[in-house]
Amino acid sequence: MNIIKYSLIVFTGLSLFSCNTNRALSENDQAGVKNVIYMIGDGMGLAHVTAMMIEQKYEPCAFDRAEAVGLVKTFSANNRITDSAAAGTALATGNKTNNGMLGLTPGGDTIQSVLSRAGVFGKKTGIVVTCEIENATPAAFYAHVDNRSKSAEIALQLSHDSIDVLFGGGMKYFNGRDDGIDLVKNLKAKNYQVFDKWTDAIQVKNGKVAAFVAPGHLPYHDDGRGDFLPEATSKALEILTNDSQASGNKGFFMMVEGSQIDWASHGNQFSKLLHEVNDFEKSVKIAFDYADAHPGTLVVVTADHETGGLIMPSGNVDFTKSESGIDYKFGSVSHTGIMVPLFAYGKGAANFTGIFDNTDVPKIINKLLGL
Ligand SMILES: [Zn+2]
Repeated sequence: MNIIKYSLIVFTGLSLFSCNTNRALSENDQAGVKNVIYMIGDGMGLAHVTAMMIEQKYEPCAFDRAEAVGLVKTFSANNRITDSAAAGTALATGNKTNNGMLGLTPGGDTIQSVLSRAGVFGKKTGIVVTCEIENATPAAFYAHVDNRSKSAEIALQLSHDSIDVLFGGGMKYFNGRDDGIDLVKNLKAKNYQVFDKWTDAIQVKNGKVAAFVAPGHLPYHDDGRGDFLPEATSKALEILTNDSQASGNKGFFMMVEGSQIDWASHGNQFSKLLHEVNDFEKSVKIAFDYADAHPGTLVVVTADHETGGLIMPSGNVDFTKSESGIDYKFGSVSHTGIMVPLFAYGKGAANFTGIFDNTDVPKIINKLLGL
């Protein structure tokens, strides 16, 4: 085992596993987390979660079930306000990088993600998103490029990877490439079942599968996406569980992104935003329920940064009167520097109480996995 670890570090030149967080693991967590479901609400700040709670009249929701709650600092290597590429890289690899860069240090060294590392150690791996699979957050878990806009190169790198379950959009970078390479053919040669329709992909029960169900991004939930994200979360859990059981039972690492919370927030579109958070919360509930039914599963839910500067001021400054309504307002059309919430559930959740840097999160997950 030590030999394998040593060769990996040499191979990737990574600092994720050589640089420890100074946090000791609590409970009996030194070993025992078998499955990780890592969930990222892109642009989802505390106000986004609160707005959903208010609009659901404080009915209990998945976030209320969190067993541990933390706050996460999001700054990047070169900017107090991060973009999704640098934030994704921090959450995936435990390293700060410059805005726009994916899976590389600011100096250009390749950094391995916790998902890739889990795969090397025999865990099944999966990514579920509602954007193009080549977009910044998912790409941070497998790609290494100096500019997040290099979607064709990112797809090429994904086709060389061996992530077991891939659900999202972005088929055009596989089957409609300017360089003429047919990446769908390449995936099929690597035993992937490849789909461009969700109704076909949802029939799969096991085996490697890539479903890119839109040429580009999927539409907003409000614009016809339906329940793709919760359905894809369930389906990925089913496949990864089956495949793990069929091959040594080493568990899995899966990343799920609520990709479009960010876009609705950039657009200051409150209703769209609310429905994107609702959709993400349905997936969080599925993950928490899975953890209940499968001991040894850790679920970590957080965000890469806040978007929109969402606030919800009272409609009246006179609090002797009964409530006179809440205004949802945006302070920005961009990202903000406010800390984002983290909700943890299941095995090892207690390690996520406190204030963290975004780079701490994958380091703690890695320790809990014992990798
Ligand atoms: Zn954004």
